[in-house]
Amino acid sequence: MPVGHTRVCYHEKDVEHFEQYAIDARAYGLELEVLHGKAMFERFPFLGREVLAASISPLDGHANPRLAAPAFGRAAARLGAQVIENTEIVRVEKDGDRFRVESARGDVYRAAQLVICAGAWATRLTEQFGEGAPLAVSGPQMCVTEPVPYIFKASMGVFTSIKQESIYFRQIPRGNIIVGGGPAGPADAATSRASVLPHNTVRQLAQMRRLVPALAPLHVIRVWSGVESYLPDSEPVIGPSSKVDGLFYAFGFSGSGFQIGPGVGETLAELVDTGSTPIPLDRFSIQHFAKEPAPRQSIVTS
Ligand SMILES: Cc1cc2nc3c(=O)[nH]c(=O)nc-3n(C[C@H](O)[C@H](O)[C@H](O)COP(=O)(O)OP(=O)(O)OC[C@H]3O[C@@H](n4cnc5c(N)ncnc54)[C@H](O)[C@@H]3O)c2cc1C
Repeated sequence: MPVGHTRVCYHEKDVEHFEQYAIDARAYGLELEVLHGKAMFERFPFLGREVLAASISPLDGHANPRLAAPAFGRAAARLGAQVIENTEIVRVEKDGDRFRVESARGDVYRAAQLVICAGAWATRLTEQFGEGAPLAVSGPQMCVTEPVPYIFKASMGVFTSIKQESIYFRQIPRGNIIVGGGPAGPADAATSRASVLPHNTVRQLAQMRRLVPALAPLHVIRVWSGVESYLPDSEPVIGPSSKVDGLFYAFGFSGSGFQIGPGVGETLAELVDTGSTPIPLDRFSIQHFAKEPAPRQSIVTS
């Protein structure tokens, strides 16, 4: 649901960025409203007084991934897709003009086209076609507070180049406030485990107090993380293989795959179906990594 998303900033250079970004985004049909000072505090009286400007995107929204992702799966099934869960693919190859995909159980699937979109585990499959990418994994840090009256319909975050400050929050109708952002924690693709470092939560809460001082007394009732994959420039790989016809990739979403996933899916579906898309994908080609080996590593920033 389009309930809005507001980004705020604490630094003059970021105010200038907001102004320019609003102009640039308009060319793509995205209307952003930028507010400062008195007008901003009238609209958002709860903001901390260090906030200099707010960039408001009224058509943005937020959703629960545990509900939204399976809903996409059910919608695909209604349209005829066969969704096979809990099945690890261990071997992929091209056999004549078709792909042969084999699961850990030994089940074999064949298809004329193949999309590898296996998140932090994608290069285990892409490397079987001789194409890698320097994927690193880490765990975004999340926490959720006790419920309070539901007043924040839109989500809100801090735009900044200082990692520590870059937190965001959204409130769900039940009243709990979900907080994310800031430095990541450790994650391991081999064990599929990621954890939350307690000091990261404490620092998130300090930044929350700065952003919305009235939220300071809230208790955190749960924390969580997950294995997310990152590429060096924080841009994903999206598009066709540079080596194998009929093979496509989409992975390395670097912390924003929930946001752009539906658009990426639509673009890839068009590409797979028609062989082309008006969305320029060269910027996201796996060829950028053609000369680089693909060391698997974990990144933790604190
Ligand atoms: C804690 C946390 C908070 C986040 N917050 C946000 C946010 O606020 N906004 C946002 O936009 N993004 C957010 N993200 C990032 C977002 O969740 C990811 O970018 C997105 O899920 C990536 O989608 P994906 O399909 O590429 O990978 P994934 O969601 O990781 O899905 C990959 C799937 O492939 C499966 N798979 C892997 N290997 C195989 C195999 N060999 N055989 C079969 N299946 C396989 C995996 O089991 C998994 O189900 C967050 C991530 C985490 C962890």
